[in-house]
Amino acid sequence: MSERERTSASNFIRNIIERDVSAGKHGGRVATRFPPEPNGYLHIGHAKSICLNFGVAEDYAGVCNLRFDDTNPHKENLEFVEAIQDDVRWLGFDWGDRVYYASDYFDKLYEFAVALIKKGKAYVCDLNAEQIREYRGTLTEVGRDSPYRDRSVAENLGLFQRMRNGEFEDGSRVLRARIDMASPNINMRDPTIYRIRHGVMHHQTGEEWCIYPMYDFTHCLSDSLEGITHSLCTLEFEDHRPLYDWFLDELEVECHPQQIEFSRLELQYTVTSKRKLTELVDEGYVEGWDDPRMPTIAGMRRRGYTPESIRDFCERIGVTKSENRIELSVLETCVRDALNRTAPRRMAVLHPIKVVIENYPEQGEERLPAANHPQDDSMGTRELAFTREIYIDREDFREQAPNKFKRLVLGGEVRLRNAYVIRCEDVIKDSHGEIIELRCSYDPETLRDNPEGRKVRGVIHWVSARYGIPAELRLYDRLFAHPTPDADGSYKAHLNPHSLLTLTQCILEPSLASARPGDFFQFEREGYFCVDADHSHDRPIFNRTATLRDSWAKEQSRQS
Ligand code: ATP
Ligand code: MG
Repeated sequence: MSERERTSASNFIRNIIERDVSAGKHGGRVATRFPPEPNGYLHIGHAKSICLNFGVAEDYAGVCNLRFDDTNPHKENLEFVEAIQDDVRWLGFDWGDRVYYASDYFDKLYEFAVALIKKGKAYVCDLNAEQIREYRGTLTEVGRDSPYRDRSVAENLGLFQRMRNGEFEDGSRVLRARIDMASPNINMRDPTIYRIRHGVMHHQTGEEWCIYPMYDFTHCLSDSLEGITHSLCTLEFEDHRPLYDWFLDELEVECHPQQIEFSRLELQYTVTSKRKLTELVDEGYVEGWDDPRMPTIAGMRRRGYTPESIRDFCERIGVTKSENRIELSVLETCVRDALNRTAPRRMAVLHPIKVVIENYPEQGEERLPAANHPQDDSMGTRELAFTREIYIDREDFREQAPNKFKRLVLGGEVRLRNAYVIRCEDVIKDSHGEIIELRCSYDPETLRDNPEGRKVRGVIHWVSARYGIPAELRLYDRLFAHPTPDADGSYKAHLNPHSLLTLTQCILEPSLASARPGDFFQFEREGYFCVDADHSHDRPIFNRTATLRDSWAKEQSRQS
């Protein structure tokens, strides 16, 4: 077991693996793989698969390979290859030196195809794509044999070699497995295993090949070549399993992995389809793959989600065969739980209004200690600069308010967090009646104790006007306003117009001057924030990772 404690709950896949290990199947070995296609960035759904594949390998002293499933070169590229590796590593998993590419096996796959032809189990078919579809039949109608199905082995070998040599045009011929055109499983009706693709530049093999193997053929054989024992995939491949097994049986390979399917992760208010995420990026609905609103691992990282919280989420949702959509609040709760434990507390004023403490000396200042975490002394303290002029949040002041308003009112007292009790004596307004400044007094006896016999309404946060740091805060909310954005086929119509609110006039406590990208904090009473990737000393930018509580649920129930 790795240094990370094994906390994984049992699930049906682990049960199968345990049974296989104790039965000595594959010599008791466990080997899995995570097989992304490098045609986009990884998303939260992939995280489920990563945690499962790497998690079982760790727990059963096995290995998990990272394998790029790169058989469809025109949508793939190196940017994605690199981003995928960064993301898996960031999640906390290690594939050692076992990074593989399906394209590593192109020579071997070609040999396997030749072996099938020699057995009479594959043939070159001259039907075009449309004709193949027509001949295939439907769920209720059996297919028809291709007129090319009974070509001799010698003719097939010759034609396949010529396909490879580049003698035929794209789409003019394919190599097909020769199985059963009447099979009730359409995947078994002589599926295509090689097609011709001229003029593509493959990110690994360049222009070496003009024929490319299809996914089903490639996947099972790559698994076998790598000695994979348990090939874990999502439920849509269940109907492909007979084909997976057929190839391995016909080719009499040494290692025959077992394919086991589990349900995809679907998350409320989210789409987890690379095609749709690609559209959001390409059509400019978001800033990029790492936009903090994206459900990509890169987006969640920039948003301030921690790897622990994503792994915790994958653990909590479990692995089953039943399809369901997980509530987004489950993920957000994992994030809040992790950050509540680990985020240092700081003060930041989002909508500043100036407060002048009239009985505090003009040039005076004090350094007041403040705990970095209310429950964790080991996180230490920092100093806050207290001065005559400070900022508080506009929302924390009302000229008049009922008693349940636990903040500052004209003539009332409130405690400044980690500092004194102040009283609002006067309100200064501009010519439009807008409040621009509060005139207050402070009680020097109240640094630690509340005044006796007087009522203090509550505690609010503040920042010194002299030392506070101006900053931009980006308040992110969910990207879609609908819990099932892709249910009616028009997910873009459900984009949340309020998914980003940028506040440019915020003031942060001075200790935040040393914050670096990747640092995260709880801004007290406001939420969890992290330093954005574009942050600099001259232009501080923080992203809101999460609100302190599930304000969305509250908002929804208020509206209904
Ligand atoms: P998409 O439909 O988003 O394009 P994909 O399945 O084509 O996803 P791959 O790159 O092929 O994307 O996925 C790599 C692995 O991650 C596969 O084993 C796949 O089953 C798994 N995976 C993808 N999406 C999910 C999901 N939502 N939940 C669980 N596993 C997933
Ligand atoms: Mg796929």
